[in-house]
Amino acid sequence: MSTTDENMVEVSVPSGEVKNFIYQEIDQDLAAGKNGGAVLTRFPPEPNGYLHIGHAKSLCLNFGIARDYKGGCNLRFDDTNPVKEDVEYVDSIMEDINWLGFNWVGEPKYASDYFDQLYEWAILLIKKGKAYVDHQTAEQIAAQKGTPTTPGTESPYRNTSVEENLAEFEKMRSGQYAEGECVLRAKIDMASPNMHMRDPNMYRIIHRAHHRTGDKWCIYPLYDFAHGQSDFCEGITHSICTLEFEVHRPLYDWFLDQILEGQPAPKTRNRQIEFARLNLNYTVMSKRKLLQLVKEGIVDGWNDPRMPTICGLRRRGYTPKSVRDFAEKVGIAKRENVIDFALLESCAREDLNKIAPRVFAVLDPVKVIVDNYPEDKVEMMETVNNPEDETQGSREIPFCKELYIEREDFMENPPKKYFRLFPGGEVRLKGAYIVKCESVEKDAAGNITAIHVTYDPDTKSGMPGADRKVKGTLHWVSARHCFDAEVRVYDRLFNDPEPGGHEAEGHDFKEYLNPNSLQIISNAKMEPSLKNAKPLDHFQFQRIGYFNLDPKSTPEKMVFNKTVGLKDSWAKEANK
Ligand code: ATP
Ligand code: MG
Repeated sequence: MSTTDENMVEVSVPSGEVKNFIYQEIDQDLAAGKNGGAVLTRFPPEPNGYLHIGHAKSLCLNFGIARDYKGGCNLRFDDTNPVKEDVEYVDSIMEDINWLGFNWVGEPKYASDYFDQLYEWAILLIKKGKAYVDHQTAEQIAAQKGTPTTPGTESPYRNTSVEENLAEFEKMRSGQYAEGECVLRAKIDMASPNMHMRDPNMYRIIHRAHHRTGDKWCIYPLYDFAHGQSDFCEGITHSICTLEFEVHRPLYDWFLDQILEGQPAPKTRNRQIEFARLNLNYTVMSKRKLLQLVKEGIVDGWNDPRMPTICGLRRRGYTPKSVRDFAEKVGIAKRENVIDFALLESCAREDLNKIAPRVFAVLDPVKVIVDNYPEDKVEMMETVNNPEDETQGSREIPFCKELYIEREDFMENPPKKYFRLFPGGEVRLKGAYIVKCESVEKDAAGNITAIHVTYDPDTKSGMPGADRKVKGTLHWVSARHCFDAEVRVYDRLFNDPEPGGHEAEGHDFKEYLNPNSLQIISNAKMEPSLKNAKPLDHFQFQRIGYFNLDPKSTPEKMVFNKTVGLKDSWAKEANK
């Protein structure tokens, strides 16, 4: 087993003073001298969809353990179903894991690497009288399963001879049966209180090429016959998985017990530990449902910024660190709970606050004319990029007679304590001057078309004597230097905290889609420096929120995505 330091990832995942229960279990195994002191985990995705934020939790846990114990973590694609799997998914999964900052040991591995071995083990089980070919239909087999409280019925094929089963399994392998005509089943216990032990299927017939093994096989192992043994083949020490696999554990152990019976004890025998999966409100995480959103064009692909996928979060402007911090904050538990989406957003805010330069963008512009400013004069105003981080330096933004501010930053008849602009009132234009509102221009319908102000030349930001204070500070852009861009503002994709939770009452998750989850602002006014933005660059649009440049943006039409607001706008709603 190779678990060298070069496989280790340098990211800050918890060193945790309080170790979660999985760490405690691993500590005990190491203290007991198990597995020669090795720790090898794995991340085992099925390549039938893109990774989502739930997978990120599992990734952070498995790669975090590898780092903290100076072990390793394998990437293994559990590719046992050629019907649903695709190389597109394989590639995206690798890209997303790397983006999160993790590196697996050696080459990626595949359950299909073990198809020969699994086939041999199937033969071994048949020879031991522990597996048989069943020619009943799937419906018949299901009808015989019984219920958790009543035992199942034994199949009429259960006591077929070893010779006959070997011959039948060979006929399955060599393509002499059609799909669904027969399956190979383990012979365990039709009365077991654990339904997974009631003669589960091991192999099924699928006449379909596989993305790696091509036409070599027309029989494919079921996930349950492949998963535990694949871990064993790789020398995995700790097979960490979500709680729903707890009831599969006795089956995985049973398969390995049969295979290892009479053999010398192996150096490493994997042990499964379960933890609670991540549930997040206002979203769905089932790959089947996510695929539906993509296929039906409800979203703009797997990486739509409203998707809970890793590539969606990336396109939305989340950083790898914010996703890892989220996984750490959520923690590892034995019991399921639902995490508030706001926690994910606060992790993004925290990271972006430090790294995103602060720029000026006006999303709903209204013209401002500085009446006493010379017609052709342009001043370059020096502005720090991020007061949280001096190393980000400063830049210059042009100021002239014509500007834009946000329409909502002006009120003709303001209430008390209104600190923005109103007739006769003063505000500071951030990084520039204090201005006073003198008058407004309106169109025939009474809409304000321009606001006239005068500036106080003694109040230039950063200049000696410019310390006169006013209560309000506004962001602005020069109307003569800014450029137009598209800004996409996102809201939750669903209106219901648990959109997938109403199926029992006959409601499809898509009934809960939020019709206003995407707002497109087509002519936002951007400060000139944003022309140099590169895809996925992060920014704080001052007083508005965090944004990034969409990767599909072009120089002719720049598109910015809103990552998250400056504050938790939903908490504000709740407190109203
Ligand atoms: P499906 O949506 O088809 O049930 P899945 O989400 O279980 O699929 P896999 O590809 O089988 O997808 O998952 C790979 C790994 O990620 C597994 O170890 C699984 O336990 C883990 N995982 C999946 N969803 C979550 C989640 N919500 N929280 C934590 N871990 C998860
Ligand atoms: Mg799964």
